[in-house]
Amino acid sequence: MVDLKSQYEKIKTEVDASIQNVLNNTAFINGPEVKEFQKELESYLGVKHVIPCANGTDALQIAMMALGLKPGDEVITADFTYVATAEVIGLLGLTPVLVDVIPDTFDIDVKAIEKAITSKTKAIVPVHLFGQCANMEAIMSLAKKHNLYVIEDTAQAIGAEYYFADGSKKKAGTIGTVGCTSFFPSKNLGCYGDGGAIFTNDDELAGKLRIIANHGQTAQYIHDMIGVNSRLDSIQAAILRIKLRSLDAYCAARNNAASYYDKAFAGNPKLKTPARASYSNHVFHQYTLQLNGVDRNALREFLASKEIPAMIYYPIPLHNQKAYLDPRYKDSDFPVTEKLCASVVSLPMHTELDEETLHYITTSVLEFLNK
Ligand SMILES: *Cc1c(COP(=O)(O)O)cnc(C)c1O
Repeated sequence: MVDLKSQYEKIKTEVDASIQNVLNNTAFINGPEVKEFQKELESYLGVKHVIPCANGTDALQIAMMALGLKPGDEVITADFTYVATAEVIGLLGLTPVLVDVIPDTFDIDVKAIEKAITSKTKAIVPVHLFGQCANMEAIMSLAKKHNLYVIEDTAQAIGAEYYFADGSKKKAGTIGTVGCTSFFPSKNLGCYGDGGAIFTNDDELAGKLRIIANHGQTAQYIHDMIGVNSRLDSIQAAILRIKLRSLDAYCAARNNAASYYDKAFAGNPKLKTPARASYSNHVFHQYTLQLNGVDRNALREFLASKEIPAMIYYPIPLHNQKAYLDPRYKDSDFPVTEKLCASVVSLPMHTELDEETLHYITTSVLEFLNK
């Protein structure tokens, strides 16, 4: 699904030198590389504060802790997402309230959010799924009306841009109260281990986020609140500094591959290619097709026989996962997620897909469909 090896070969000299530099300095935790990466990412995103942490799941958890969310508070998020989003809500004793997504872009359904708001609702967690922003302007106005926090899960969409109706634009993760991302190796900006970060323009909140990520420590050995141990390693920061320089080129390479797929599959009644939202560009963390009357397992087996991986993101709606069952949920509340889980398939998507490979993948898919 991804080719991290070829990507590494192209930046090997710089990456190896910067890792060696960390080894020479032995500042493995909170070394200067972390601070430099933080500054460079703040400037890339156009956000006041980046708080690096250990992974994307921690980023979401620390954000919810810093906002002072308490057991019993309801947090609305998408039914069609990776489990981490709902997991931290449950872990903190908050109540996850799952809502459906919209069919074309797979983003959280704003009308469903509005219907789910109660007097206990404290926050909305939109997920910028597969590399494209959720409808943030509508979500922000809903949040303002009901006095809710907005925690953007931008683990899959770092670098994506949201277009406002007035023509202005902002980077994914810098629009809500707080944004959370992951640097897991296969993410669009991936390190060579675990990593994550939190973004905010709010000075006071940034201070709290930093304190919580570091054991609730306000000064050395002074702990004013309960925190966690969540740090980005200096080695990972050094790698991310190199890769951040190529992030826009990586997004462009992903878009090139997506366009190739789009053209090859255009007009085929058995496939629906991914829609582009009017309010966001797409950085194609995943290229996800919706199948129409196609035996998905047989397609995957056929592709596997030609050594082409194809994955299902995600096979089971969160509301049907044992850990998240809730008597309030009915399958009929999630018609879109139900349909997507049964019909989606994601093709290989990464920065190193050349024409030959894309030709091989698309002709193989079409060969199966025409059988
Ligand atoms: C990857 C991912 C996360 C979690 O990130 P980790 O760094 O693996 O903890 C959270 N949300 C979404 C949507 C993701 O894709």
